[in-house]
Amino acid sequence: MKFLIKDGHLIDPAAPENTGMSVLIEDSRVAGWLRPGEAGPEDCEVFDASGLLVAPGFIDMHVHLREPGQEHKETIASGCAAAVAGGWTSVCPMPNTNPVNDNAAITRYMIEQAAKAGLANVFPIGAITKSSDGSELSEMGEMKAAGAVAVSDDGRPVPNAGIMRRAMQYARDFDLPVIDHCEDKSLSAGGVMHEGRTSLLLGLKGMPALAEDIDVVRDILLARETGARIHIAHVSTKGAVEAVRLAKREGVNLTCEVTPHHFTLTEEAVEGYDTNTKMAPPLRSREHVDAVIEGLKDGTIDAIATDHAPHHADEKALEYDRAPFGITGLETALGLALTELVHKGVIDLARMVELCSVNPARILNLSGRGTLAVGSVADITVIDPTLEWTYRNSESRSKSKNSPFDGRTFQGAAVATIVGGKLVHRR
Ligand SMILES: [Zn+2]
Ligand SMILES: [Zn+2]
Repeated sequence: MKFLIKDGHLIDPAAPENTGMSVLIEDSRVAGWLRPGEAGPEDCEVFDASGLLVAPGFIDMHVHLREPGQEHKETIASGCAAAVAGGWTSVCPMPNTNPVNDNAAITRYMIEQAAKAGLANVFPIGAITKSSDGSELSEMGEMKAAGAVAVSDDGRPVPNAGIMRRAMQYARDFDLPVIDHCEDKSLSAGGVMHEGRTSLLLGLKGMPALAEDIDVVRDILLARETGARIHIAHVSTKGAVEAVRLAKREGVNLTCEVTPHHFTLTEEAVEGYDTNTKMAPPLRSREHVDAVIEGLKDGTIDAIATDHAPHHADEKALEYDRAPFGITGLETALGLALTELVHKGVIDLARMVELCSVNPARILNLSGRGTLAVGSVADITVIDPTLEWTYRNSESRSKSKNSPFDGRTFQGAAVATIVGGKLVHRR
């Protein structure tokens, strides 16, 4: 089958700047670039992309798809439906399923379920330790052979520096990046929001920025010593951004990501006690949000990832102290990146594509993705950068509706998502 994405504005590191271009797809790969206006082969299907941006498919390095084990919150199929609706062609589910993805059988199961759904690609992340309980290392090599692209104990960060050191050495030997949820729970335990003025006013127990900073610094030191590749998940503090910036300058092999909610919202969003503002790490104060935005601007931050964390409405309906951590994010991320970053002049479109596609592909060693070069996999996100639309939780493809952005209006959205040459979503 031949498919032509015609006359779009290509944003790709391999494309010459500011040129319109058509992308010809043949048998799930990019077969060539055609000049604007040039007709494709006779037998090809045409998608008119004039006035639209055409980017290498977006890759969300950090999601929770809840299958196996908590299918009432999300399944791999429903998570992938939300992903492609939000413009993501690939997602990387964290291992905190039930059972935990700490072995090749579960990794394989996730990939099989994704293939059945036939929407987004799923590249699972395996656990660092068995059951993510922080004691015994998982079989990283077997998981990698089954298709895992990284390891992480997201949500249950390895508390013991000795075990983390061994984990980094082990992961390094398999060339697997270690994705690091940095939180020293001895400092954050019992906390439900950022520790500061607002937590005092609201009478809620705080999680200090220090809990994140201290763990980031510990793991940078371990990475420097072991030579492992680490990727700091969801940076949210000034200290974390500064530590990453310094470590990169020193040549430590590390990268980091930020979530859309951490560059958009501050702790003040918690004031109405809406449990859809409760997540870990928590929404921080203005100075931290500004530091994160600075990190996006100056290249310290490598990726935008959603940390899509679906929870059932009944669970989020509990009081703030007792509700689970996490919000959905797959369908609002691109709208937030365009509205809050691109249209406000923080970053340009090329940098956004780098953060959402080029860099995630590089960090996870996904060869043939994160680019539209001839021969690469035809995963493509087509964007209308100025389309005005309003997000509604009630219309979400996710099984869960726990987003704080219900009713928010955005400038820009994915209008078509193409995975392996197949149009899997059209707005
Ligand atoms: Zn996390
Ligand atoms: Zn997470």
